[in-house]
Amino acid sequence: MKTVLIMICLVMVLGATTLEATTAGISTQFDAASATQSYLDRLDAEQRAASDAYFEGGYWLDLWGLLYGLAIAWVLLRYGISSGMRDLGERFTRFRFVRVVAYILQYTLLVFVISLPLVIYRGFVREHDYGLSNLSFADWFNEQLIGLGVELVLGTLGIALIYLVIRKAPKTWTIWGSVAGLGMLGFVFMISPVFINPLFNEYQPLEEGPLKAKILSLARANGVPADDVYQFDASKQSTRISANVSGIFGTTRISLNDNLLNRTSSESIEAVMGHEMGHYVLNHSQKMLVFFGILMVIGFTFVRWAFGRVIRPAWGIRDVSDIAGLPLMLALFSTYLFLITPITNSIIRINEIEADIFGLNASRQPDGFSEAILGLSEYRKMQPGYWEEIIFFDHPSGYNRIYMSMQWKLENPEFPQAHRHSPPASVD
Ligand SMILES: [Zn+2]
Repeated sequence: MKTVLIMICLVMVLGATTLEATTAGISTQFDAASATQSYLDRLDAEQRAASDAYFEGGYWLDLWGLLYGLAIAWVLLRYGISSGMRDLGERFTRFRFVRVVAYILQYTLLVFVISLPLVIYRGFVREHDYGLSNLSFADWFNEQLIGLGVELVLGTLGIALIYLVIRKAPKTWTIWGSVAGLGMLGFVFMISPVFINPLFNEYQPLEEGPLKAKILSLARANGVPADDVYQFDASKQSTRISANVSGIFGTTRISLNDNLLNRTSSESIEAVMGHEMGHYVLNHSQKMLVFFGILMVIGFTFVRWAFGRVIRPAWGIRDVSDIAGLPLMLALFSTYLFLITPITNSIIRINEIEADIFGLNASRQPDGFSEAILGLSEYRKMQPGYWEEIIFFDHPSGYNRIYMSMQWKLENPEFPQAHRHSPPASVD
């Protein structure tokens, strides 16, 4: 059924182009821009308006999120709550590391509670407003609690480790702290597919059949050592279609969500899998670690520089190695992250473009890929402005991804209707 649909769509797109070509009096004409437009025209004005509003609203929410976080930090510092939490830990134990951990646990729980209004609005209310969530409030909140649990374990470990480094290497902690932070990040990447993702979703091997055979063949052809493909029940959370390649250093696995499986054609799935394999083959996880490492060194250097300038004696923080200064550290670091959003987005987006090209070459499904991209329009603005894409998009825009697919199609002779230089098709 889906194949038939795709065929019909294909005929529609090609039909439209042929019509144009005839009017222009040229026998073989395929124009990537108008083919892209034909895809975009399949979304009606209402769908476009909803996805634009949803995505653009996210820009503002990022800003409100930062300001809200800064306000929380200020309250914790200004009213002595932060130094109070430190003193409480110090009363119970003389072990420094335990004191630090005691502070981080109190801090994490307190910030979780104070942040709830904004988190509920963004994560639950708004998702339902746009029809993107399938979760009841109880189920949604349960996931927040699981997330909090993960944060209490991994976040505490990471922050405690960095404070240990600050104490042991007061002059060079920006470097060694980044090494520690990177180690943590690599560790989280590595354990995610095995220990973290299954806390939220059920992963199981994709059922045997032609689709799986095709995906595994695609994997073998492209040097991806996957002997299985996983599917997970994302539909319990949302209607979004997606897939991912997760893990690093031996835990890598390719997973596709059941929305992708149920809502798109096998051509689209192949195209998306080709993209995910691209991330693997092009070593994107490892490269991201290197990039993040560099950004972390710069970030810590900024934090170190700004910390001494912003701190006030009334806050009761002894020095940079005092855990009571954590709200200030995080406020400065999140301001830094916010300001470099266009850089991080661009680094990720460039990887995504590479994976797109890889996926097209591997799967040879330009229309399947365009179909899948159209599906993503539910939560991603399709055609942003030039700078808007550079600043806010961590994936290429839908328009550019479909355009790239159509361009690819144009340049590949196996799609004779699309091939500009092919001789006029003989009629027989
Ligand atoms: Zn990707």
